[in-house]
Amino acid sequence: MRVGTGCDVHPLVKGRALIIGGVEIPYDHGLLGHSDGDVLSHAVGDAILGALAKGDLGSHFPDTDPEYEGISSLKLLERISSLLEGRRILNIDATVVCQEPRLAPHIGEMRDNLSRALGVDRDTISIKATTTERLGFTGRREGIACLAAVLVE
Ligand code: MG
Repeated sequence: MRVGTGCDVHPLVKGRALIIGGVEIPYDHGLLGHSDGDVLSHAVGDAILGALAKGDLGSHFPDTDPEYEGISSLKLLERISSLLEGRRILNIDATVVCQEPRLAPHIGEMRDNLSRALGVDRDTISIKATTTERLGFTGRREGIACLAAVLVE
């Protein structure tokens, strides 16, 4: 069995949709990025690549490549899952660090989206949300961070 970890941060800016785990969440700011800025999908993708020792998200999907401009990060997860080549994801555990908005109402849909993109059972995927009690850049609502761990058989 092999473990992988992922970490991602994107700034919150006006004029962008807020997409986390493939869910568009109503909010007056969104995550800035070359793709859709989906911090959860990126952290999970990096964790899977880490478990496989196959580099990182940036090396597979460079942010200078117009092909990935505005792309749904669920598509990136689909491509990463093809690198598993028969190896099985045993579980994923991710924590989104976000002061606002409340993510709890959207967690179920995020799990469904990731489960579809990766072709794994919904029960395999844990997504949690936390705040930093208004401390730091996430607490000031300047950005959203995500940490993820994955176990691959
Ligand atoms: Mg990212």
